[in-house]
Parts: sequence; structure tokens; C-alpha cells
Amino acid sequence: MSLRAFLSECEERGEILTIDEPLSPRYEIAAIIKALDGGPVLRFTNVEGHPGSTVVSNVCNRQRLLRALGVSEGSVEEAYKKLVEAAERPSKPRVVRSGPPAEEVIMEEPDLMKLPVLTYFKGDAGPYITSALVSARSSDGSVENVSVHRLLVLGEKKMVIRLVPRHLYRLWKMAAEENRDLGITISIGVHPAVLLAATTPVPFGVSEFSVASSLLGGLELVECEGVNARAPAHAEIIMEAFLRTGEMAPEGPLVDITGTHDAVREQPVVEVIRIMMRERALYHAILPSGVEHKLLMGFPREAEIWRAVSKVVPAVKAVNLTPGGCGWLHAVISIEKNVDGDAKNAILAALTAHPSLKHVVVVDTDIDIYDPEEVEWAIATRFQAGEDLVLVRGARGSTLDPSADQERATTTKMGLDATIPLDKDRRAFSRAEIPMSHKVEELLRRLKRA
Ligand code: MN
Repeated sequence: MSLRAFLSECEERGEILTIDEPLSPRYEIAAIIKALDGGPVLRFTNVEGHPGSTVVSNVCNRQRLLRALGVSEGSVEEAYKKLVEAAERPSKPRVVRSGPPAEEVIMEEPDLMKLPVLTYFKGDAGPYITSALVSARSSDGSVENVSVHRLLVLGEKKMVIRLVPRHLYRLWKMAAEENRDLGITISIGVHPAVLLAATTPVPFGVSEFSVASSLLGGLELVECEGVNARAPAHAEIIMEAFLRTGEMAPEGPLVDITGTHDAVREQPVVEVIRIMMRERALYHAILPSGVEHKLLMGFPREAEIWRAVSKVVPAVKAVNLTPGGCGWLHAVISIEKNVDGDAKNAILAALTAHPSLKHVVVVDTDIDIYDPEEVEWAIATRFQAGEDLVLVRGARGSTLDPSADQERATTTKMGLDATIPLDKDRRAFSRAEIPMSHKVEELLRRLKRA
């Protein structure tokens, strides 16, 4: 259940690329991550100004994410089911007295400058922690929340956090009403399933640690009494901190999932009081708008779409929040239908299951939804805008999309039914094939090797 254990499995499979050239945490490492986005796991062992530090990135691509969820490779439907079930049937994590970080390196006088925090893009406000798992509880302990946030480092002990008005924001508001700061833990370097659990939408009051525990078949936590919050016992780095309720600072700009810079906003300041780390801690850096960012944020939403659409059509084969659609705004869904109207119902179900979704394309199961050319081919040969287009104006959308109405968070949504009409001859829509003799197959194999 630790990032280390997951990475040693990746190592055995030869999926880790170690880079030991000295590289600056400012832009240089980010440029390498971007160039190799979606490929092997990257391990940087020589970070300039941070002797002894190791940065890991690209931990998750689609294949490794399925493995992190413990499903056989390629079985995306099984992964969705597992995630949906974990969200519906969370199980209690186990509290242990101590974990490795709490035993190895402890900074009683915290200094964030000692961590190899990366600066990613030109125009970013500064070094940003992008893989932070933040956990907090209400003062009576009845509500716990775990979510992933970005944190801009301002000084040795100070950061500013982006709090979208969701659950952590609500706990922070509750603390403000009680005239106190909100104690939190910030964990870096956790198993990918823990990050995925934290981005899975569950109601306020359900702890995402319990979702993670259900996903992994058990999770160990440590109690950080000084801040009334818990953290994964096997995290690489655990910080105890306070979310100030009376101190704000400008947060941003930082590139978000769209690959464009998000706006600057006044956000709460975080003050770190203690840092615990493992020996040679692995610092997990997630490239904003990279494959890993899109998957960790988007995959639980794919599962939600899969669940919602499965309820209204006979079968859903797969859902893809496409990389070109920022892993967030565009979905392609392959379905089986009983009647032609099923495809339009699939569109409506998808648009409401993931409120940020802007454009959705529904195709038949013969289309590979991970291949943008095949999807475009389906639109070119099976779609008629006059009959097959669904348009919804003024719906709730995502403010991450710069073309949306930023003040009211509204957008125009569009659905394309690119499935073959049931009353037409299917043969007219099928892809033509050339018969292959054994000889030609052999020859092609040779030619492709050459
Ligand atoms: Mn929550």
C-alpha cells in the first residue's frame, strides 16, 4: 500500500527510467517530464541544490493506473466497478502507532526549501507542490476529508493553497466560525490508489481514507495529534500544518489541466509546523496538464460516467476523457443500443454525471475510443448534425475552460450521436477489409521489424 512498493513492482517490469544528470528543479526537470509524458516512470536522482533528494514523476499512465487498482491490465470496466464499489462501501482504515516517516527524518524546525519542489511552466508563480494529499477533520472529529490540492511555496514554513469551494473549503469555513485555524496533514508520495480515492467524488462526511482502504483492501494511518488530523502511515513525506482562517495570499498563476494558466485568487495561507520524511524520501511531482494529472483527476469521473450511462443503455464498453479534451472536458463513450434513442439518453446521462463535461461523442463498440482518428472517422461517416446533435445552452460547466462564462460558471454543452442508425443497413457503415494470406502476414511482420 506504499508508493515504494508500487514502484519496486514497476522496476521489476523495467518501467522505470533513472536520470542521474544534474538538473535544476526550475524548468529543467519539468521539461524532461513533459517530453516523456505518459511513458516510463521517471526517477531523478540528482536535483541541483538538493543533494540526496529523489524526484519521481509519471507514476501513472493508464496501464499502471489499472495495476494500482489491482485489476488485470486492459480491464477498464473492472476498474470502474471497483472504484464505484469502493465509494459505495468504504471500509475503516487501521490506525497504527507509527509509520516509517515518523521514525526516520524529522524536521522540528520545518524548512520547505529543503524539499525539491519543482517550478514547471514559464509564467507560473513559483515552485508548486502538485501531489499533496490534504487531510482534515471537524473539531468534534465526526467529519474527515481527504483531497488533493496544489500548494505554492512562499517561504520556509509558508505556502498558499488553492481551495475550490468543496469539502476542505467547508471544513475551513467551519473552523473560521469557531475562530480557530484548521489543522491539516499534507502527505506527499502515496500509493496511486490513495490519490485516486481522494479524487473520487463521495458525499461530505465520507472519509476518502475509507474509500482508499476499501480499494486497497486495507490502509494504515497515523494520528497527528498536534493538528487533529491523520495521514497514510506509509507516505514518503508527512507535514503537520495549519490552514489559516485569518490570513490570505495571492495564489497562482499555475498551469491547470487545460494546459493554460489558471487565474490568480486570494486563497488561505498554510503554516507548516513539522515535517517527517523517510530516509531518501521520494518526492512525487505531477506535471500540471500531463497524462498523470489528467488520469488522477479524470479517471474517477470516467467511472461516474460509466455508472450513469450503464443505467440507461444496455451496455457501456468504455469511457475516455480524452487527452485532447484536457482529460476533463471531452468524453468518448462506446455503447450497445436497443433503440436509436439510447444514444441520446447516453449523452444526457454523461453530461449530468460529470458536470464539467462539455462535449461528448457516443459511438458503437467497433470504434476504438482511445484512437482519435477512429472517433473522427465515426463522426465523419455516422453522424448527421440535423438529427444527431444535442445542444444545451447555459448549463453548469467548468471554469477551467477559458471559453466558458467565468462569472456564472456556465457553458454550452454538446453531444454527438455517432452511432449507426438501427434502421439502416449496417454493411454500408462497416470498415472495408483486405483479405490477408498467411504469406502476406509473414511478410508484413518482417517488413515492420526492418
Ligand atoms: Mn470529500
